[in-house]
Amino acid sequence: MIIALLGGTGNLGKGLAIRFAIAGYDVVVGSRDSKKAEEKALEYSGICGLKIKGLNNVDALKICDVAILTIPWKQVTDFIVQLKDLFKNKIVVSPVVPMERINGVFVYTPPPEGSMAEKIASILKDSSVVSAYHNIPAKRFAKIDEKVDFDVIVCGDDIEAKNIVIDITNDVDGLRALDGGELSNSRVVESLTPFIINLSLKNKIREAGLKLV
Ligand code: NAP
Repeated sequence: MIIALLGGTGNLGKGLAIRFAIAGYDVVVGSRDSKKAEEKALEYSGICGLKIKGLNNVDALKICDVAILTIPWKQVTDFIVQLKDLFKNKIVVSPVVPMERINGVFVYTPPPEGSMAEKIASILKDSSVVSAYHNIPAKRFAKIDEKVDFDVIVCGDDIEAKNIVIDITNDVDGLRALDGGELSNSRVVESLTPFIINLSLKNKIREAGLKLV
């Protein structure tokens, strides 16, 4: 199973790339720029001592089974529209959270489709879109010495694809996947991210994640 982190050169992509590699998966870091992808892949490989590949997003997408969209929410729509055909028959994972900071408070700003995951699914009709990883504090997660214990809510309408994402997530040390039901529940899960950030800031909790006990 090959997992591609498209835009994997950023905050969330780093932690996911390294931790999936440690879990035993073949990982490809994608970027708009092949050279940057290769450099980041080398950096991540150096951190975990495992081979991680770096390719431009197009080549990463071509060879992967699971494509994770670690791209900022304002840019992700144009990105998937441009590469739409290459996403065909892939499992596409959206961790995308649309939000703005207004007067110091983070606010959820969903599209008319209800959530970014549903918007992505409305464009990538020939892919199996699953949503996950929205509530992970990326910078903390990217520090590999940091012991994490987070729940990851996974939503999707294609049960087989959702179960694959649940399985690969459970293989990552420190993550527990929870079946979040249908893709439209992504509205709730995406909206939790700005809520958790506001809560953390108000209560002085450092880079909080989600855990249900
Ligand atoms: P980021 O670090 O700001 O950006 C990730 C990568 O996106 C960049 O390294 C860049 O890669 C690529 N990118 C930027 N503009 C682009 C464009 N116009 N077209 C294509 N690629 C572009 O983002 P992030 O913080 O990792 O977040 C990634 C996604 O995860 C977002 O949708 C966010 O909502 C979600 N998320 C983030 C966190 C978090 O704590 N940060 C937590 C949960 C979910 P190249 O320059 O190499 O192409």
